[in-house]
Amino acid sequence: MTESIIQLRNLTKRFDGGTVAVRNLDLDVIEGEFLCFLGPSGCGKTTTLRMIVGLETPTSGEIFLRGERITDWPPQRRNIGIVFQNYALFGHMSVYENLAFAMRIRGQARERYDGRVRQMATELQLGEVLEVRAARLDLSTMQRVAMARTLLAEPQILLLDEPLNNFDPGLREGMRAELKRWQHQFGTTMIYVTHDQEEALTLGDRILVMRDGEVEQLASPMEIYRRPQSLFVASFIGRPAMNLLTADMEDGELQLPGGVRLDLGRLGMAQEGMPARPVAGIRPEHLVPSPSAGELVRLEATVDLVRPQAAKTIVDLRLGHDVTLQALVRSPYREAVGARVAFGFDPHKVVLFNADSGRSIG
Ligand code: ATP
Repeated sequence: MTESIIQLRNLTKRFDGGTVAVRNLDLDVIEGEFLCFLGPSGCGKTTTLRMIVGLETPTSGEIFLRGERITDWPPQRRNIGIVFQNYALFGHMSVYENLAFAMRIRGQARERYDGRVRQMATELQLGEVLEVRAARLDLSTMQRVAMARTLLAEPQILLLDEPLNNFDPGLREGMRAELKRWQHQFGTTMIYVTHDQEEALTLGDRILVMRDGEVEQLASPMEIYRRPQSLFVASFIGRPAMNLLTADMEDGELQLPGGVRLDLGRLGMAQEGMPARPVAGIRPEHLVPSPSAGELVRLEATVDLVRPQAAKTIVDLRLGHDVTLQALVRSPYREAVGARVAFGFDPHKVVLFNADSGRSIG
C-alpha cells in the first residue's frame, strides 16, 4: 500500500496586499516518490514549497508530516531539506568545510562526521574537490555540493526549487539524469518545482500541474499527456501543443472543421451531457501522413509551413481558411508548401473538452 508522507489540507496562502498565492490546496505526497510541481510563473509553486518546509506560514489549512500536524512547527523541527536555485554555499570555505558546516556548528567532533562527509562526497563524485574553495567550482559541481550538504542532514523529504535554472541546456540534461539517479540511490521523497514541462515529464513519478494557486491535475506524466483534464493542461504539456478544434454536435456526430466527422459511438462516448460545441484535442504526433484505408479518421488539408527539427518535422496544415493544425512527423517530410495532402488520426486518441468549464469530458 502507498503511504503518504506529507498531507496538505485546504491550504491557503494570502499575502499582505491581497495576493492569494495558494488556494484550498489538498495534496498527499507519497513516501519515496519524485513529485514535480509544474506551472507558469506566479502560480504558487514556490509558496507551496515554502509552506511545506516552514519558511512561510499558511493563512489557513493544515500540513501533516507522517500523520503529525506540523503546520506551526519551525523549519528546523521538520527535518525537511531544501535546495534553492542559488546554492547558498560559503564561497570562501572548502567543499569539505561546506559539507561539514552544520555538524560542526552543532558542536559535533570531527571524528564523528568525517567518515560520513567523505562517503557522501564519494557518492556524489566530489572526492577530488574536497579541498577546493566553493567559489572556484563550476555550476554543476556547486549543485552537487548543495545536494550533498542537504542529504547529509538526512532529510525525510527533499524539496528542490528550480535547481537547474542556471544550467546550459546540455548540462541540464546530464543533471536531470543525475538527480533521478540520486533519488533511486537514496530513496528520499523529492518535491521538485519547475516551470519546464519537459523537466517535469522526464523526472516526475507524478506531476502536480498548478494554475493561479490551484490544482489543475495531479497524475503520472503519461496520464497527463494522454488524458489532460483541462484545456489549460492540454495546451501546457506537449511540444508542439495539442491541436484544439471547436466542433459542432450534430446527430450524434462531432463535426470538425474541414468536413471531418467523428461518430461519438466510435469514440466510445455517450451523447448525453455533451455540449453543443465541444473542443476536440488532437496531439500533433497523432496525425499520420498519407493514411491507408482502415481504422484512422481521414482529413484533407493544405500544407502551410514545414519546419524540420532533426529527426522530426513540424508540419502546419490548413484545414479551413482560418483553422490550422500542427502535425509532428518523422523527417524528412517531402510535401511542399501549398500541396493538398491527407492525414489520419486514431479517434480513440482524441480528447474532448467542455469549452465553457475548460474541463475534459468523459
Ligand atoms: P515563479 O516560478 O515565478 O517563482 P511560482 O509558481 O513559484 O512562480 P510563487 O513564487 O509561489 O509562484 O508566487 C505566487 C504568487 O504570490 C505570485 O503572484 C507572487 O507575486 C506572489 N508572492 C510570492 N511571494 C510573495 C510575497 N512575499 N509577498 C507578496 N506576494 C508574494
